[in-house]
This record gives sequence, structure tokens and C-alpha cells, in this order.
Amino acid sequence: MLQSKLPHVGTTIFTVMSGLANEHQALNLSQGFPGFDCDPALSELVAKYTRGGFNQYAPMTGVPPLRQALAAKAVSVFGLTYDPDTEVTVTSGATEALFAALTAVIRPGDEVLIFEPAYDSYAPAIELNGGIPVYITPEGPAYAIDWTAVAGKISSRTRAVIVNTPHNPTGYVWTQADLDALAALLKPLDAWVVSDEVYEHITFDSQPHLSPASHPDLKDRTFLCGSLGKTFHVTGWKIGFCLAPKALSAEFRKIHQYLTFSTVTPVQYALAEYLGNPEHYLTVAAFYQRKRDLFVQALEASAFRFVPSQGTFFQNVSYGHLSQENDYDLAVRLTKQIGVASIPVSVFYHRKDDHKQLRFCFAKDDTMLLEAAERLSRLSW
Ligand code: PMP
Ligand code: GLN
Repeated sequence: MLQSKLPHVGTTIFTVMSGLANEHQALNLSQGFPGFDCDPALSELVAKYTRGGFNQYAPMTGVPPLRQALAAKAVSVFGLTYDPDTEVTVTSGATEALFAALTAVIRPGDEVLIFEPAYDSYAPAIELNGGIPVYITPEGPAYAIDWTAVAGKISSRTRAVIVNTPHNPTGYVWTQADLDALAALLKPLDAWVVSDEVYEHITFDSQPHLSPASHPDLKDRTFLCGSLGKTFHVTGWKIGFCLAPKALSAEFRKIHQYLTFSTVTPVQYALAEYLGNPEHYLTVAAFYQRKRDLFVQALEASAFRFVPSQGTFFQNVSYGHLSQENDYDLAVRLTKQIGVASIPVSVFYHRKDDHKQLRFCFAKDDTMLLEAAERLSRLSW
């Protein structure tokens, strides 16, 4: 019999809840994907490049114009300098970038710090490489990081720390103090930072996005993993990237080369051209802040408690003061009974800790957001 390498892993909650939402024709605020299409100009660019014959393998590291555009964006928006030839690699989504970065650094027995709640791809990627996830659990509703607790979990066994800012599912955005604290703790160690920044362009209320790579003591140890799927409403295109210093990128590319070799060619050219206009990514934060505000204002009429999200396109709400129902059961029940699908936040904890929270994705049309909020406000507890 085949011995499972991931015995505790089943189908992801995103697939489960989107399936349930479809089955019950519910408003699907569960899986994180935009409920609207991308800019038609971007689709046109893909058509242009497929018709133009850009349909064979891309270079393993990504097409040069996209690597150049990503490097130009990193320096102009975040002040981060990367050489497009040796330090920028295009991947099949951030998921692949994260997997390749973790694979490049983890050896059997190495410990890797994860902040919980955590995106679901991190722990399996660590375990498949023989690493050991070590969990740190910032507490809601603010989710600020307790650096004394982190210090207690860091040792010479620590090989990597996974950072995710802006954070899915809490919306927490890392501060300069967080970066300083991480830099101080890692200073004496031979450890790396794998930084998941897929929501880099989605922070609210003028709070800046700060990459660990912006810290002088962290830049040389950081694999900055991102995705254009969130920024341009094209999650299905699965174009991600990894920015990392030359020596790290060289090892990263050895893994990427045998995971996928390269990624879809005409879409890379299209995105490269589209990135040429900074307005396309600089307006995304305001676009989602308006949606967040619309959704949370409408939710004020409900009995849920929440702190408005600082970034991402997710809003968490608490209901522990209303009911002791398990969050998974509640998410399923609301999908079936009132036709509003969400993600139970317990799935982001390795022990499925139930803090009585649901996550709603507000990357949806305004009418759907208002209808969902109204149905949630009519709930009787
Ligand atoms: N990290 C986080 C925090 C995410 O929310 C997502 C996706 N939805 C990913 C990584 C994966 O990104 P991609 O779809 O580009 O693989
Ligand atoms: N990242 C998305 C979310 O958090 C889902 C991605 C997926 O379906 N794997 O909802």
C-alpha cells in the first residue's frame, strides 16, 4: 500500500467551500478570488501575444520583459533593487515560488517558524522536505506579534521563518518594529526568510506594505515571493515570482527548473506590457479599500464583531459572543440556510483551533457584498 507522505491532508477548504457554495447557489465569499473580470485591455494583450506566435517554452527564469518589469516595480514602489537577469524568477503562482524557496533551504530535521493562523500551503511544503513546522500564534482581534514568544521558539535549529504580510486570513500588516524584531532575532543564525507577499499592493488606510527585504539586515536572507494573480484580478493565470539575492536565486532556480521548468509564455508577455503602466497596480489598494469599507459598513447592522482588515481582500468576523457553534459547522450552515459562503478560520490552524471566526472575501461585486451583508444582518442567534 502507498504510504501517504501527507496523511493528515485532505481536499483544501477552498475547494470544499466553493463546491458547497455552487451546490447551494450561495453568494461565494469563501475562496479568495475576484468575482469580476480583469481589465479587458489585459485580456487583449494575452490575445495579442498568443496570436503573435509567443506560444513555445519561455526561458526557464521567465521572459526577459517580465523579469525587467518586476524588477522595475520592486525598485520604484518599494525601493528594492534586484537584477532582472540573476535575481528575478517567474514561477507558476506564488504557491510554486514558496515551495521552491522552502525546498531550497530546508533539510531533514530543520525547524521552520510559521505564524498561525497560516495559509494552508506552508506546512505541507515544509513537511515534504523533512522539515518541522514550529507554530507561533498571535492573538486576535489585533494579531500583533508577541516577539518575546517568537524569541522562545527560535534556536540554532531554526532554518527559516515564513512571513506573510499583508496576512491571509487576518489582514494584519507587518510594521517596521516587526521587521526590526525579526532582524535582531535572526542576526546570529544561519536562517532564511521566506516571505509571502501576494497582497503587496493591497494595504489600507495609508499603511505601507513593508517587505522583510526592505530591512538591511534581512535582504540577503529573504526570498520575496509574490503573485500577479491578486494584483490584476487574474488568480487563474497563476503567474508568480521570486525576488532574491543572486546566490539564493541560483539555488531557487535549480528547484524551479525541475518543478515546472518554465511558465506560460504569452501571459508573461502580456503582464510585462501591462506592468508598464504603474497606475495598473498603484490603484489596487484604493479599489479594495472602497470594497472593504462598503462591506464592513453594511456588516455594522449584523451582530458580528470585527476589526476592519488592514490589508488583503479578506475580512474576519467573530461570533463567540453570540453562539458556541463550531466555526466549520456554522460556515456550512450559513451556506445552506442563508446562501452566504465563508471560510471557517479554524482551518488555518494546525490543531484546528476554533476561535469562533469566519473569513469573508470582499473581492466581489458591490451588489453581492451588500446582499451578503444584509443576509448576515438578518440572522437571529
Ligand atoms: N499565499 C497566500 C497568502 C494566498 O492567499 C495565496 C492565494 N490565494 C497564495 C499564496 C497563492 O498564490 P498563487 O495563486 O499565485 O499561487
Ligand atoms: N488563497 C485563496 C484563499 O485564501 C485560495 C487559493 C486556493 O484555492 N488554493 O482563499
